[in-house]
Amino acid sequence: MIIIENLTKKYDKTIALDNVSMKIPMGKITVILGPSGSGKTTLLRIIAGLEKPDSGKIIVDNEDILLKPPWERGVAMVFQTPSLFPHLTVYDNIAFGLEAKTINRIKIDEKVKWAANLLHIDHLLDKYPEQLSGGEQQRVALARALVVKPKILLLDEPLSNLDLALREELRYELKNIQRRTGITFIHVTHDQDEALELADYLVVLYRGKKVEEGSPRRVYEYPATIEAAKVFGHNIIEAHCSDKEVEFSWLNNFVETNCTLIIPQHKIIVSGNDDCVIIDKIYRRNYGLLIIKCKETILRAVVMLRELDNYKVGERVSIEMIDPHILRK
Ligand code: ADP
Repeated sequence: MIIIENLTKKYDKTIALDNVSMKIPMGKITVILGPSGSGKTTLLRIIAGLEKPDSGKIIVDNEDILLKPPWERGVAMVFQTPSLFPHLTVYDNIAFGLEAKTINRIKIDEKVKWAANLLHIDHLLDKYPEQLSGGEQQRVALARALVVKPKILLLDEPLSNLDLALREELRYELKNIQRRTGITFIHVTHDQDEALELADYLVVLYRGKKVEEGSPRRVYEYPATIEAAKVFGHNIIEAHCSDKEVEFSWLNNFVETNCTLIIPQHKIIVSGNDDCVIIDKIYRRNYGLLIIKCKETILRAVVMLRELDNYKVGERVSIEMIDPHILRK
C-alpha cells in the first residue's frame, strides 16, 4: 500500500489539496479521477517530489517518501505533453535515464530494447522526436519512464492530447503493460470512460477533496457522496423515503424531502405518459440520451440508439428507476 495521510497543499488562497488521505494498492492501476482544477496534478507532483505539500505524509514500505529527494523515491512520471530531447534519437531518449545510473552498454542495450518492444516502437529507435507522430512520441515517453523499472509510475493525463481511436488503443496497451510489468501505476484523468476502463482502484477528487475511493464499479454505481455522483454526471433526485416506498420530489405534495437518490443515466427507464416531459434528444456514439424535465428536476436517461427515433421532444413520459442508490439526509 501507498498510504497518503492528511495531505494539504495551498497556493496563496487556493487550496489545491485539502486534507487528502487514501490507500493506493501496490502492483495495480489506481486512477485518480476529477474535473479540471480538482488537485490531480498537484497530488502527482507531490508524490514525484516536484512540489512540497504544506502538511501530510506519503508512506511507502514504512517510510515517508516526502523526506527523500525525488531520485530516491523509485518513481517515474509521464506528462500530458511528451517532453523528449529533440537532439537525441528515440534510442538515446529511452537510454537517457539509464545512463545517468551508469550501467554498462550491453545492459543498457538490453533494457532499451525491452522497453521499445513493450511499447511496439522497435522500428523507431533511430528516428528523432520531430519525425514521430504525437502517439509515437507518447510511446517513447512511456518507454523512457518504464525502462528504469520504477516502483511507481505516475501518469498525468498521458492520453489527453491524442485522438480518440489512438487514445482507446493506448489505454488498452497501458493496461497490458501494467499486467506484464507489475509496476504500480497511478494514472490521472478527467475522462470517466478512461478511468472506468483502466482502474483496478478508483479515487475521485472534487475541489481538492477526496470524495470517493474503491473498486470502479462500486464507486460508479453506488457513489457514497453527491460530489462523486456529480463527477460522473449521474442523476441526483430529491425524494421522500419511507420504509415502504420512495416518492420523487415532483410527485404529490409532501412538504420535505429526506433523502437523495443517485441514479446513473443507464438506470432510468422511460415509460408511460405522465408527469415529465422530454425536452431534448442527444445523439451519441454508442447510445442515445433523453433530457427529461420533471417539474424543476432535469434528468438524463440513456436509450438504445436504434430507439432514439421512437421518442419525440415535447412528449410526456414518466420515469422508473432500476436499483436506486439512496443517500439519507
Ligand atoms: P487538476 O490537475 O485536477 O486540473 P491542479 O492540481 O492542476 O488540478 O490544480 C488544483 C488547483 O490548484 C487549481 O485551482 C489550480 O489553479 C491551483 N494551482 C495549481 N498549481 C498552481 C500554482 N503553481 N500556483 C497557483 N495555483 C496553482
